[in-house]
Amino acid sequence: MPPGSLAILRAPAGEALGLVTFNPHSLIAARLLTSNPEATVDALFLGRRLAQAASLRDRLVGVPFYRLIHAEADGLPGVIVDRFGDALVVQVNTAGMEQLTPVLLEALEAELSPKTIVLKNDAPVRELEGLKRETVVAKGEAGPVELIENGARFVADLSSGQKTGWFYDQRDNRRFMAGLAKDARVLDVFSYSGGFGVLAARQGAKSVVCVDRSQPALDAAREAASLNGVDRIVSFEKSEAFDALEKSAGQRFDVVICDPPAFVKSRKDLKTGAQGYRKLVRLAAPLVEKGGFFFVASCSHLVDVPLFAEQVRRGLRDAGRSGRILLSSGAALDHPVHPGLPETAYLKAMTLQLD
Ligand code: SAH
Repeated sequence: MPPGSLAILRAPAGEALGLVTFNPHSLIAARLLTSNPEATVDALFLGRRLAQAASLRDRLVGVPFYRLIHAEADGLPGVIVDRFGDALVVQVNTAGMEQLTPVLLEALEAELSPKTIVLKNDAPVRELEGLKRETVVAKGEAGPVELIENGARFVADLSSGQKTGWFYDQRDNRRFMAGLAKDARVLDVFSYSGGFGVLAARQGAKSVVCVDRSQPALDAAREAASLNGVDRIVSFEKSEAFDALEKSAGQRFDVVICDPPAFVKSRKDLKTGAQGYRKLVRLAAPLVEKGGFFFVASCSHLVDVPLFAEQVRRGLRDAGRSGRILLSSGAALDHPVHPGLPETAYLKAMTLQLD
């Protein structure tokens, strides 16, 4: 069967387990679409899943800016859809979903009639599925759009931004941290387009420094700062994060936020990658004022909660700091997890108060 074919998956005894997409070249050869082996996978079928996912998000988030489809958890393995009002960014990551893309586009059209659809098919995982990496504007015009999150305005570039253009997964963590930031001096490291820092400024931070190595990300953060009337509070530093932390030794902030990219991308770099979190904590914790707050996250799906907690503990010990864990959290609710796939809960975050 060619990669991406629809197939019926059977138990050794012959019992049909359901309808799957099949790829002989991937370690995950079969991905379950439905336990009904007779189902017809057409625009109506996909449309029902989209409608269900959309009604959940409308209830959870309230504004049309969210992760609409989170793959298996929403019954659509191999697909991510982020919604920015009437623009959608779709990531197709499996051969099965690649085959179904025309039907998916038809279903998206029928359910949401978006003005813009971008197929941001540039994830490295596509190569494991034998697919090429490309970004295609399937409808309308791509480019920067405005979004609303936690009542603040932000900017995402749907074609040239990182991933889908915005990291909705930190929505709830951003709100929590902003709630701690009144009158605070805030350092937002790996800031991307200001999701944490600009919100903190809007909620009364005294000063915010956003550090990132990407100029386009910082440009979007600057724009967000001015859209929210906090451009005099937020400043920007284009820098390698670890260099910036080392250079800042001796300074003090009331809130330090570190939300790095995944340090562990494959099982073979688990050990060295995981140590990156320890080093990050070692360099960032000393910048936290006594009694201040420290947020650190990991989006490496191979780093589980106990391993992450261990790296944080060691980093704090290296830095000679202690304190208390206030919150261990994960991704926002529009990133649900399939009960059979706990490893898809990739985001771990910890907020501490440091002594
Ligand atoms: N905190 C952000 C998301 C961070 S994504 C938010 O709330 O939206 C990771 C960010 O780290 C990206 O913006 C990327 O440009 C930046 N980055 C990656 N490696 C870096 C490095 N070595 N130094 C500084 N920034 C880096």
